[in-house]
Amino acid sequence: MTVRNLTILGSTGSIGVSTLDVIRQHSDKYRVIALCGHHQIDRLFDQCLEFKPDYAVVRDEVLAKQIAGRLLAAGSATRVEHGPDALVRMASLPEVDTVMAAIVGAAGLPPTFAAAIAGKKILLANKEALVMAGPVFMRAVRENAAVLLPIDSEHNAIFQSLPFDYTGNLEKSGISGILLTASGGPFRSRALADLANVTPEQACAHPNWVMGQKISVDSATMMNKGLEVIEAHWLFNVPADKIQVVIHPQSVIHSLVQYVDGSVIAELGNPDMRTPIAHALAYPDRISAGVEPLNIFDIATLNFERPDFERFPCLGLAYRALREAGNSPATMNAANEVAVQAFLERKIPFTAISAIIAKVMNVLPPKTADSLDEILAADSLAREVASGLITELQADE
Ligand code: NAD
Ligand code: MG
Repeated sequence: MTVRNLTILGSTGSIGVSTLDVIRQHSDKYRVIALCGHHQIDRLFDQCLEFKPDYAVVRDEVLAKQIAGRLLAAGSATRVEHGPDALVRMASLPEVDTVMAAIVGAAGLPPTFAAAIAGKKILLANKEALVMAGPVFMRAVRENAAVLLPIDSEHNAIFQSLPFDYTGNLEKSGISGILLTASGGPFRSRALADLANVTPEQACAHPNWVMGQKISVDSATMMNKGLEVIEAHWLFNVPADKIQVVIHPQSVIHSLVQYVDGSVIAELGNPDMRTPIAHALAYPDRISAGVEPLNIFDIATLNFERPDFERFPCLGLAYRALREAGNSPATMNAANEVAVQAFLERKIPFTAISAIIAKVMNVLPPKTADSLDEILAADSLAREVASGLITELQADE
């Protein structure tokens, strides 16, 4: 196996740290060329000393000066850059063949898109990038012979359960549908009347997965599953009506593919993101991930339920955005990001998240979007409208 050269976008986050943990176990196979963080410079500093990348990227010039000084004093040769343009450069470096896209939210779109344009192997955790830019992103992947491998556990499971030579034609492969599993998050069975009063801490306490704050709140509203329906649509060319969300509270089955002959193929494992990360890093080979083997005797029971669209309105909004197409998914995603941030800052109640997204989608009718610029314009407009609604809501209090 040749050594793979990596850029890690979002190295200081939950997925970034798990990625480096897998790489640490296989330092003969992977070389880190660039580590990109944002503001957590202590963690980035430690990562730079351990993985000795050629480049490190932080949010701004002030932080860049701070970390560069510390690295120099520690005898490190890592060069420090800063800002969104540096992320784009790191994702397109000629010496890099593989880009782990693990920035959270819309901020990850420009560098992940740049990786596609540069024809890289993209390990995609940053689902928001694909949700926002679906057709534009997939066209960039195709036209530049980039390779897109899903890190999201469900999509990685689907990828593993599809035929090895799957080309995006369901009928030809005898596939009748996808079952996308969801844990249901921390509020699956909480009384509906209580939801208005839940706190960010309660929303972030996911029953099975330890993740960044934004995706944890998305799991609690089930917007995460909505984003994943859109993600699955673009990754595997599956129409929305062939993607069924299934609540499976144990998170052991990570998703399933149904075939016309009645066969159902699934991927199972302990809920640990190092499994899909190791799978995508080594693909088509296999490497150990450091994950405990699944003990099916300990698990013993697996449950399945239909999702409740009343409890989780975000799920319906995501299906709507997919149906509306054009810039609608970008609008929805931006409104969600702003609303989730406001909830985390205790400016709005949990139940206002879906209400704000719905309002933004009603105010901004879908338009076609055939370029990255049009997608980014929809993103900023939706952010503006969502922020305005939040200010109004706060004034009413
Ligand atoms: P996180 O919040 O733990 O980490 C986010 C990373 O992005 C950090 O390194 C942060 O520095 C960086 N970042 C944030 N804002 C940035 C900006 N404006 N510019 C540059 N960098 C920025 O999030 P996470 O849980 O690791 O999730 C990352 C992505 O992976 C998300 O899109 C999420 O939906 C997806 N994902 C995560 C998990 C999981 O288990 N954590 C599972 C599936 C998918
Ligand atoms: Mg997932």
